[in-house]
Amino acid sequence: STGLMAGKRGLIMGLANDKSIAWGIAQAVAAQGAELAFSYQGEALKKRVEPLAASLGKPVLFECDVASEESLDALFASLKAEWGQLDFVVHAIGFSDKNELRGRYVDTSRSNFLMSMDISVYSFTAVCQRAAAMMGPGGSLLTLTYYGAEKVMPHYNVMGLCKAALEASVKYIAEDLGRDGIRVNAISAGPIKTLAASGIGDFRYIMRWNELNSPLRRNVTQEEVGKAALYLLSDLGSGTTGENLHVDAGYHVVGMKAIDAPDI
Ligand code: NAD
Repeated sequence: STGLMAGKRGLIMGLANDKSIAWGIAQAVAAQGAELAFSYQGEALKKRVEPLAASLGKPVLFECDVASEESLDALFASLKAEWGQLDFVVHAIGFSDKNELRGRYVDTSRSNFLMSMDISVYSFTAVCQRAAAMMGPGGSLLTLTYYGAEKVMPHYNVMGLCKAALEASVKYIAEDLGRDGIRVNAISAGPIKTLAASGIGDFRYIMRWNELNSPLRRNVTQEEVGKAALYLLSDLGSGTTGENLHVDAGYHVVGMKAIDAPDI
């Protein structure tokens, strides 16, 4: 095949349905010739993920719960048997008890703090360990983060702490793997209506706020995140590592919007 991703093989983790950010990224890289494998959480998701994967080529699907070392080992053993080598991984996974994604951060429980950090932060490190062992120079690792890491966003709570730790881990892993020619980056996406986002309190209001206050005066789409991912996963991004690329219609640069519109 031809395209920016021709000859590259990658693993997409975190596809739940056609609203998933992982789906926007999968479509963008597949359109440029990438060969894809997918991991999904739990057999219940298989029937939804299988037809999506099949629509992009020969489906290579593995079940993987990132909270389990055994499950991660099994995933990468299967990938090694299937392909031998790997060019990129997309980690589009996060989780917290939705009862703690409303109200005050300060009320967060120890058990949910640890579980959220495990699934939303450590899992990326665990994936990088295993993926890097299958990668040569030119390898690219990508995760998804949110502005709630940088500033306090209502209801984001413990996920804000998770994303701050995830962003720090991107920098540390970029340094560790850079000498092997492997790049590690994050995309900080603006709010997009997905299954995970629907667990966040007042999510519709957060989307409306971003639409009214971002420089582009709109929200972003899965497709736009996909295009940015294509840059970071392809040779276009060969000079970029340790980066947190905002795909948020510019929201993160605004301190206070000028009174130029009748919309507030
Ligand atoms: P989504 O619900 O489509 O995807 C989340 C995925 O995480 C699901 O596929 C789910 O199965 C998977 N997952 C959760 N726990 C897991 C586990 N233990 N093992 C394996 N997989 C597990 O929602 P999304 O919005 O596409 O989320 C993808 C990423 O994007 C997340 O990291 C999220 O925090 C991030 N993000 C989302 C937004 C947004 O507004 N939607 C904005 C910025 C960042």
